[in-house]
Amino acid sequence: MNHSIITVKGELLSSKLGFCHSHEHLFLLDGQSAKINKALRIDDYDKTLEEVLLFKRLGGKSIVDAQPVGCGRMAELLYKVSEETGVDIVASTGFHKLIFYPENHWIHNMSEEDLTKLFVSELQTGMYASGDEKLGERIAAKAGIIKTAVDTAGMTKEYQKLFRAAAKASLQTGTPIMSHSETRTGLEQVKFLSDEGVMAESMIICHIDRSIDDFTYQLEVAKTGVYMELDTIGRFKYHSDEDEVRLILRLIEAGYEDKLLIGLDVTRERLKSYGGEIGLDYIIESFIPLLKQNGVTDEQIKKFTILNPSKAFERKQ
Ligand SMILES: [Zn+2]
Repeated sequence: MNHSIITVKGELLSSKLGFCHSHEHLFLLDGQSAKINKALRIDDYDKTLEEVLLFKRLGGKSIVDAQPVGCGRMAELLYKVSEETGVDIVASTGFHKLIFYPENHWIHNMSEEDLTKLFVSELQTGMYASGDEKLGERIAAKAGIIKTAVDTAGMTKEYQKLFRAAAKASLQTGTPIMSHSETRTGLEQVKFLSDEGVMAESMIICHIDRSIDDFTYQLEVAKTGVYMELDTIGRFKYHSDEDEVRLILRLIEAGYEDKLLIGLDVTRERLKSYGGEIGLDYIIESFIPLLKQNGVTDEQIKKFTILNPSKAFERKQ
């Protein structure tokens, strides 16, 4: 294994990843997502630049962007902001919840084989520049993870096809899969991907902390050996940060501190540069101090923000 992570600027030794937010949205093209929720439009280069510079000034080194191909991802701007700031960005291929695509989008009728080829090409050749269904030109920057997602209905037939394509692309390239989960769908996703041959160490399950009081489920997911992403930090419509800290303490106590990743899963309405209150400074300025106050050690915080992401996002080949 060559211990590297694929960022938009190329191959990065995983030991150089540094302080990392494991799930953010830096750009999101105006389109279907914004029709569903107007906070899902993040399309002002200068504002995002300002936000990434804020993160950098506080010691931030890398960000995983979770917006996949053809679903509002703005690949050229991800590259540009990474070049301009020096902050490393890991971009996503793969797919999101189907609600985020218009009816006539290729995602609905592309064959499993073609989907696999599309994902592999984005990981090996370069990402499509266009943020919508018109794939168009490619850029040289490659995707570094495969995003997958289900909605509350779980693994329907259409999602199964998409997940199989993602699994095949992962196995062909060694790329980790980062999966959006809904309440309690995580286990089903892990099982499906495992049955397709994907190893637990190549899976990252997102939003595991949305329903905070479901420790039996969280423990069941943890036992599978996957990475678990705690990205509902500073999202008070779900729960308080104190509740989040309590969950982290329980997961540490249960022995899973090597499997936890953190992020903010930001939208337009939270980013400071777009007028919101939870910016990319929040984890460093507010959440880490709260972890420390509650007895989480510096070494454990280093795991969640540096060591665990450096392993989770590594190409396993
Ligand atoms: Zn997200």
